[in-house]
Amino acid sequence: MSLIVQKYGGSSLANSDLIRNVAKRISNASEGDNQVVATVSAMGDSTDNLMDIAAQITNSPNPRELDVLLSTGELQSCALVCMALQELGKNAVSLSGGQAGIITDSRFGNAKISNLATNRIEMELNKGNIVVVAGFQGITDELDITTLGRGASDLTAVALAAGLKAERCEIYTDVDGIFTADPRLVPSAYKMDEIGIEEMLEMANYGAKMNPRSIELGMVFNVPILVSSSMNESSGTLIHEVNDMDMKVGEIRNRVRGIATEKDVAKIIVYSVVDRPGIASSLFEPLAQADISVDVIVQNSSVEGTTDLTFTVKQSQLNKAALVVKKVADDLGSGQIGIDEDLAKVSVVGTGMQDSPGYAAKMFKTLASAGINIEMITTSEIRITCIVKVSELSKAASALHDAFEIDFN
Ligand code: ASP
Ligand code: MG
Repeated sequence: MSLIVQKYGGSSLANSDLIRNVAKRISNASEGDNQVVATVSAMGDSTDNLMDIAAQITNSPNPRELDVLLSTGELQSCALVCMALQELGKNAVSLSGGQAGIITDSRFGNAKISNLATNRIEMELNKGNIVVVAGFQGITDELDITTLGRGASDLTAVALAAGLKAERCEIYTDVDGIFTADPRLVPSAYKMDEIGIEEMLEMANYGAKMNPRSIELGMVFNVPILVSSSMNESSGTLIHEVNDMDMKVGEIRNRVRGIATEKDVAKIIVYSVVDRPGIASSLFEPLAQADISVDVIVQNSSVEGTTDLTFTVKQSQLNKAALVVKKVADDLGSGQIGIDEDLAKVSVVGTGMQDSPGYAAKMFKTLASAGINIEMITTSEIRITCIVKVSELSKAASALHDAFEIDFN
């Protein structure tokens, strides 16, 4: 007997036909001896719609009440999927996050799971039920309802798989799996059969759609995650611990696995900052306090005791960031600040790049040959990222996809 955890995303549950389709798939998975725990997102755009209604009532909804409201989206799909399963003659029971034992801290809107008490789920499984858990939510020790952050039904799924020691976690969505690049930008991009967890983390942080915290959790608890389509029989992409030593002789894994892209990038430059200890912290601390996350940071070499500091933020946070920076820059007696809104990130990602020189050079050369100017560069052990003009993103990503021969995987 094996235990399978499945998750279905909002677009896979957007109407009653799709809900019936999901129930059919869950029912098939439960054939034989299998036990199934499924977790579901809210139907279609219902989370956005709930946020919109709240926004019509108040500009600053009380975080606790907003979580109560948002949690109802997942409860709806959870109950409806159970009804559809029962129509198919299956025994099924719906559980809210709290009922399922997902205990969190009280950071409403972005709560962290602190404990998972699986006894209720196990009891229901032992009774012969398929268990359907409302995704994206939990409960505090004080019994307040919390939500885990946008897109966090993925996190519910991986947490359940880890807590229940499932063989793997299956995430069903509206695409066939994880692609080597965004197919809307790179027409030759294709679905990968597998990707390393660390690589996926870089892809998720830098674009490909999956909740990054769920991948981190999968890494910590060593849960293999299959991402596949709820609409067809695609074999999907398995996200798992990849060991190059395990590869068969003659099977050389391409060192660059994918091209990650992200459009939402803006740059702020603070000119002529006095170059002395503490300057960076006096700039970035107020930004952190204003809850603005700063990404790529570059400090130029000092000329005549002053330096230019450049960094990127999300476009949606640009105005807020610019106000904070302007104030600090004035206090420090720095020069002007400059802004560039229309930027994007393009990254090459692959664990095989570690300790292998030449990847950065090849990336820069490829972009240069395509006539694309690099605005900023940043790297991790398994990723090289360039900031480019958003208008050149598609050209950049396609050129890199070709140059690194991801096609010949
Ligand atoms: N319904 C929530 C959202 O839209 C959670 C999820 O879809 O995973 O963010
Ligand atoms: Mg959703």
